[in-house]
Amino acid sequence: MNYSSAVSPPFTELFVHIFQAFLHYRLTKMAQGILEEVLMNTALVEDLAEVAKDEALLQGVVMRTRETPNSSELVTYTPLTLFPTSVPKAVFLQALAVQTHYNTLVDRISQDSDFLKEALASTIEVDDFTARLFRIYQQILKEGRSQSIVLGLNRSDYMLDQRDDGTSSLKQIEINTIAACFGGLSSRTPDVHRHVLKVAGRLEESQHILDNNPAAGLAQGIAKAWELYGSERAVIVFLVEENPEIFDHRYVEKELWKRNIRSIRRRFDDVSRTGSLDQDKRLFIDGLEVAVVYFRTGFMPQNYTTEQSWDVRLMMECSRAVKCPDISTHLAGTKKVQQVLARPGVLEKFFPDQPQAVELIRATFAGLYTLDMGPEGDKTVAMALAEPDRFVLKPQREGGGNNIYGSEICQVLEAVKDSTERTAYILMDKIHPAPVHNYLLRRDAPLKMSTCLSELGVFGAYVRRGEDMVMNECVGHLLRTKSSEHSDGGVAAGVAVLDNPLLI
Ligand code: ADP
Ligand code: MG
Repeated sequence: MNYSSAVSPPFTELFVHIFQAFLHYRLTKMAQGILEEVLMNTALVEDLAEVAKDEALLQGVVMRTRETPNSSELVTYTPLTLFPTSVPKAVFLQALAVQTHYNTLVDRISQDSDFLKEALASTIEVDDFTARLFRIYQQILKEGRSQSIVLGLNRSDYMLDQRDDGTSSLKQIEINTIAACFGGLSSRTPDVHRHVLKVAGRLEESQHILDNNPAAGLAQGIAKAWELYGSERAVIVFLVEENPEIFDHRYVEKELWKRNIRSIRRRFDDVSRTGSLDQDKRLFIDGLEVAVVYFRTGFMPQNYTTEQSWDVRLMMECSRAVKCPDISTHLAGTKKVQQVLARPGVLEKFFPDQPQAVELIRATFAGLYTLDMGPEGDKTVAMALAEPDRFVLKPQREGGGNNIYGSEICQVLEAVKDSTERTAYILMDKIHPAPVHNYLLRRDAPLKMSTCLSELGVFGAYVRRGEDMVMNECVGHLLRTKSSEHSDGGVAAGVAVLDNPLLI
């Protein structure tokens, strides 16, 4: 099944309804069939696991190993599930449909300095990292932006909250406006699961795994920004960390090379040594003019190993290169902004004439609560202390493993509840997806059936020049699955693994 055919509207409604009902019945049976018959057949599972690992290597679902993290001498498959995971088609399509509105929302927030200042005022009092980013933002506001081209590449992440009646509703976990990853590798996983299902004798299900190619869409955005920048010689810089998920980047690079656009890879350190601005604020690195800086690092404090890293961030921000993201778009993706957006009337302000967009976005919000000083924040504290298991406590951090759950929420809140330190966090309703059984394939881990939870990500790409949105698209998806033993942590953190939705 290809991406556009899954997204396009029906042509004869009655026929489609009947067909969908039939398909739903068939696929539900099939998905259950996998569980009942294949999942329990140990010998078959062991065979399929080998098939899946080999196919992952054949398809390029690969990563470097810890033995050679900085070279591709030793590579292994990227951890992935043995089987795809059933996802209700209606909820999947809802996530795709809301993406362009999320793109617009992030872009509008990034242009609203009054909003960003007010939303982040309490956070930057106590959170040094956000404060540091905010200082760069203020400097840009003072000096004025030197580039009117904006490139946004984001990924909105969701879990499917299980309702009492057995249906599920799409709830946003967060939106990543910087360094959203796995758009490359996720373009190669569909063929792995198709192959596994075929070998398992599940030909029909194998045809219900969607094509997916976020890397192409992300590169399309980068290429558009490069074209608007308007210099044939200028390059794209991938700003990277020490041991990056390199193959994931390579897919995006390859898509750029297909268009004869040159990209280079540099760390903060490299740019610190060889980067500079000319009189017109054009950014040069190693003598090459830079059209677009694509941040694949810079989202957490540890990425800024020296003061020079911060100087580089500021220099890039001041330059005429297109930044993906620029500092205001980075700040628009903070968890504090997410919480403020959930307040009554805030979305309406960003979509004054588009009640439908407001409705679509708001439908994906889980409960989000302020911890600002004052009666409302006090109420949040009391609520969390009374029933900590209902919530997740989140600091302003990215990259997995930072959230606080259960009794630890009480420990943390008891310690900070009477001081402004509490405003470094937000509180969120905990989402409860339906657990399913699967096998998580990971090097060095024994093959065993796990109870799993999944998270669906949707990639968005947009380009604006001045007032004109010249591109605004949903460009693909990502399904990640983890054992339900872990409440937090992504693929990079070694907890979640790559997966594919099997639409039912
Ligand atoms: P990060 O920026 O570190 O990725 P997230 O908000 O995405 O932070 O949270 C990390 C992980 O914690 C998610 O991938 C998800 O597994 C879990 N998580 C986050 N928020 C919730 C929530 N409201 N309910 C249940 N699990 C959550
Ligand atoms: Mg996340």
